[in-house]
Amino acid sequence: MLVGGVKALIQSFFRHFLKPLIPPLCPLCHIPVEQDYTLCATCWPVVEFISAPFCDQCGQPLECAMAPTIICGRCLTDPFPFKAARAVFRYTPASSPLILNFKHGDMTYLADFFAHWMLRDRGYFKDVDLIVPVPLHWTRLLKRGFNQAALLGKRLSLQSGIPHAPGILKRLKETPSQGGLSKKERARNVKKVFHVNPSMKSHFQGKTILLVDDVMASGATLRFCAENLLKAGAKAVKVQVVCRSKV
Ligand SMILES: [Zn+2]
Ligand SMILES: [Zn+2]
Repeated sequence: MLVGGVKALIQSFFRHFLKPLIPPLCPLCHIPVEQDYTLCATCWPVVEFISAPFCDQCGQPLECAMAPTIICGRCLTDPFPFKAARAVFRYTPASSPLILNFKHGDMTYLADFFAHWMLRDRGYFKDVDLIVPVPLHWTRLLKRGFNQAALLGKRLSLQSGIPHAPGILKRLKETPSQGGLSKKERARNVKKVFHVNPSMKSHFQGKTILLVDDVMASGATLRFCAENLLKAGAKAVKVQVVCRSKV
């Protein structure tokens, strides 16, 4: 029961008490590094951090840009309901251990690293009133023991001072894994899967929400979360994820 959650609690306990005694470690190869929130010199160039130019709406890195604010062809033909999205790094075979170890409970303390990296561009968070994580269905939550998006949201809230509201969105149905599915199939999977908690509407009506998740691929999950929040009265929705995979 809740093996991942117990593992995460033990990790957090030991890291809290042992942190003053152990040097910071590279989160990818685990060798000591000089500063917190950094990678070693070997791993740094391996992780492809995303910097401009990227699509302002979906955060997808672009080869070149003619203007400071750009929207990619995909977003021009099929716009997302959220007004902007940002990702810290690309999801590649080299960077995937970071996210997989985080998600499967072996390195949940990476939420703190990721939140730090998300906040590189403080300007992006200026108009955000509330942080809302993408929810897990209760069966998956029971199996995993924690929601990785809520861990990220909590650390982001602690580092930024923006309130975290994990109870606003609920996942009504478990959806099959989205890996290997077409865009249409993914969209069909997540449609009507999310629901806004009616008792919490007054918390976010007229406010700008930052939706947080670990990975953005097609963006179908984030699209439907944003649509639900906007329909229920949110002023605007922005998205922040740890990594962006190519679709
Ligand atoms: Zn390293
Ligand atoms: Zn785009």
